[in-house]
Amino acid sequence: MQVIQRVVELRQHLEPLRQAGKRIGFVPTMGNLHEGHLQLIRLARQQADIVVASIFVNPLQFGLNEDWEQYPRTLERDSAMLVAEGCDVLFCPTDREMYPNGMETQTKVEVPTMTNILCGASRPGHFLGVTTVVAKLFNMVQPHVAVFGIKDYQQLAVIRRMTEDLCIPVGIIAAPIARADDGLALSSRNGYLTAEERPRAVALYQALCRAREAIAGGRRDYATIEKEARETLAESGMRPDYFSVRHARTLEAASPDDRDLVLLGAVYLGKTRLIDNVSVSI
Ligand code: AMP
Repeated sequence: MQVIQRVVELRQHLEPLRQAGKRIGFVPTMGNLHEGHLQLIRLARQQADIVVASIFVNPLQFGLNEDWEQYPRTLERDSAMLVAEGCDVLFCPTDREMYPNGMETQTKVEVPTMTNILCGASRPGHFLGVTTVVAKLFNMVQPHVAVFGIKDYQQLAVIRRMTEDLCIPVGIIAAPIARADDGLALSSRNGYLTAEERPRAVALYQALCRAREAIAGGRRDYATIEKEARETLAESGMRPDYFSVRHARTLEAASPDDRDLVLLGAVYLGKTRLIDNVSVSI
């Protein structure tokens, strides 16, 4: 596996492969890899000849009081995991390589509306940072396809929208959510959970599953379902941020006529912010 830090080197490495007709698959990450990330790599491998992963803990998408500094950086371990998966290129730019002109004056890519709700409401500027870095990474790697996890449902929807709106010639592939045995969605942030919190963390997924069953069973009183779930989560010692039934594509509040729905939840458990979602078609 080639480990590359500089954009010029990345281009030099990938251009001949592209010229030779190889399909390039791209998996952007922030590192501290787990099985969920590896599934993305495998999916990229199925769709492409050359798999490029990136690891970049993007300062632009973290709020001032968020965990950018403490975010786990485990490059050696990540690199070994990627080698074991047969990843071809690991691109791990420095902050300076990504933002040579500084972050304040960096040109930004903004997807409106959809980014101000749910995670965007509690993390102002987060998606602006995500879309900007993903647009830059797409221009650096110029992949044919890029794989994103359904775990970050809103992020996936926002990136699909950006790609469509800007006619970016990259196929977006969605990967299913990898979960621990008890159902907790795998996340780099799960490492923040204490031994006491970890078994309680699955309550979010359980609340989502219960709400999905209620909807599949015919209930359409979404506001009540959301309220009940928030109460249950609070009772299990979590601080709910949001719990919401939405239209699967637009992420607008679900109406009783909508057929494809997604249920999204975000909670704080101690200091850890957990997000998860489940889909249902009726
Ligand atoms: P991150 O490193 O957290 O920025 O995530 C990088 C990519 O991995 C994103 O597309 C995430 O949606 C995806 N991802 C993270 N956790 C999971 C998971 N448990 N299952 C599937 N994809 C995931």
